[in-house]
Amino acid sequence: MRSAPARHPGSSSRVALLRAIARLGFRRWYERRLIEAHAWLAACFLSMVIVAAGVELLRLRGSAAELILDASLVAAGALLAWFAWRRYATGMYLAAMLGEQAVCPGCERFGFRCDPLQPPDGRALAVHCARCGRHWQVGDGVDADG
Ligand SMILES: [Zn+2]
Repeated sequence: MRSAPARHPGSSSRVALLRAIARLGFRRWYERRLIEAHAWLAACFLSMVIVAAGVELLRLRGSAAELILDASLVAAGALLAWFAWRRYATGMYLAAMLGEQAVCPGCERFGFRCDPLQPPDGRALAVHCARCGRHWQVGDGVDADG
């Protein structure tokens, strides 16, 4: 029987997150995460426009079918807005948490390079500073699920 994966530490989403950082490099991953999060924020805003349009349509007198269609538009817009907001918040949370850990403890340079040898448990990412060469770990304690 297969058990559910543990959420902390070394959960599959955290391992996938740390692998993505190792594959792309931290700065590229960070940039993509911020762009993606802000795209979700734009989607949330557009969804709220859909909700507002649906509410305006609900005010108009029409048939029962039109009322159901307008109410469905409002519900779908609200659902999409909630989903987009959660994606935005999760993306910004991850970027902020890993951004705080990305500052070199030796020279305070932002960013790191991944070490070729990584811890086998996947709990954290072994990294080093490109400027001073100091080694540290990032990702431990970050909830990749938001
Ligand atoms: Zn450094």
